[in-house]
Amino acid sequence: MSEETQNEIEFSEGERSAGYLSAAIKKSDPRQGLPSASGLYRLRNCPGSYRMEREAITRNMAPPDDSEAAASGTRIHRWLETEADEDWQALSYAEQETAARCQSQAGKVIAGFAERYGMITSQTMERRFVMNAFGVTGEMPTETPWPAPIIGSGQADRMAFCGWRHILILDYKTGRGDVTPAESNDQLRGLAPMVSFLQPETVTVAIVAPLSGQPTVAEFSAESLKVAKNWLVHTWLQAPHATETAAGPWCQYCPGRLICGTYAAHNAATLAPLTQDGLPDGKVKEAMFARAYESDATTLAEMGERVKMLEWGAAAIKSAIRKRLEEGGAGADELKAVGWLLKEEGGAREITDPDKAAQLLAPLLAGAEGGATAALMRAAKLSAATLTEELHKASGKKNARQYNITGKEAKELLAQTLGALITQKPRTKLVHGKTETEETEIEY
Ligand code: SF4
Repeated sequence: MSEETQNEIEFSEGERSAGYLSAAIKKSDPRQGLPSASGLYRLRNCPGSYRMEREAITRNMAPPDDSEAAASGTRIHRWLETEADEDWQALSYAEQETAARCQSQAGKVIAGFAERYGMITSQTMERRFVMNAFGVTGEMPTETPWPAPIIGSGQADRMAFCGWRHILILDYKTGRGDVTPAESNDQLRGLAPMVSFLQPETVTVAIVAPLSGQPTVAEFSAESLKVAKNWLVHTWLQAPHATETAAGPWCQYCPGRLICGTYAAHNAATLAPLTQDGLPDGKVKEAMFARAYESDATTLAEMGERVKMLEWGAAAIKSAIRKRLEEGGAGADELKAVGWLLKEEGGAREITDPDKAAQLLAPLLAGAEGGATAALMRAAKLSAATLTEELHKASGKKNARQYNITGKEAKELLAQTLGALITQKPRTKLVHGKTETEETEIEY
């Protein structure tokens, strides 16, 4: 079955003549409801996805990105922008490690840029640029309206300038997993020409993604900036009118996936070997497991190729249901009527003051094997990662943000100190390509 279908979504004449911006969207969205550089990967692969996204937002069917990874990325970006102590303190230990590595890698990229082009004259953070239908670019306007409708925008996480002639744009990626390198990254290909109003001779772009490896860098000459700008203008001008959709890995970023026929068809095709002969009432799960186990390797490989899409779909549906229940009103009532509800229950019990707890428990555990300390350590199920963190912090502060030993040194010190007392049991994980796959059962 073809993955490409036509999705018909109507925009009103008013929306079209207003440059497809609605006032409500303008108010709540820093991108003003327009295509953005960060969405170019999805837009290049699925041209109709912009219309689908707007339709989903209008119908309140866009799942919120409430994942912990997104919240963590926001916190780390915040500190990288402000370097304020309060923003640093808001980071977990692991986030502090990532933030520090982002900053260190960015420093090296900027040093290499300066070595190539000369002294850095200025640096800025989190700047958003816009482009109009004529390819004219500029800073995001705050008060003054632009002479022609803006067709898209892009935000640079960090920039460095060697005068106006040579500009560096840096993008931070704070998660794990594959990151498209700078030379083939659609977001950076879109961001580079957004600064063409400054008439640079070169724009260097870099991806800093410490959890995925070393930074990658690419350079746009004046000539290649023109090519990139033409592509960008064409792509963004087409976005509100394109209807052709195609499902693929980019769907995970698409706010329109809950209403998208192409995405639904793709997922239905994935499940077809498990569902095509119908499913027995009350035994759906058992039947699907049995059919999966009976499938041949070729069928399993075909289904496995698409399984991530199903997981994103399931996550999006659950996230949207949660949002609707939290919002209350008629939508929540309708969901409650068919059995959905938000149930509050106690999480894992936690001891809030470990020092005091140890003091209180010591006399009670005095007779335990190895004494009270050994008993407490057994009960705490010591994790080498947590101990590494404790050692790191116990080394004392070198300055406001750094300890006297690095996280890596703390890990080595723990290994030296405990030697064979640290063991690591091998375990198997399901991996597809470079991606680890969760083997979870769906629980409601
Ligand atoms: S869900 Fe996927 S196929 Fe559908 S519009 Fe979005 S990106 Fe395109």
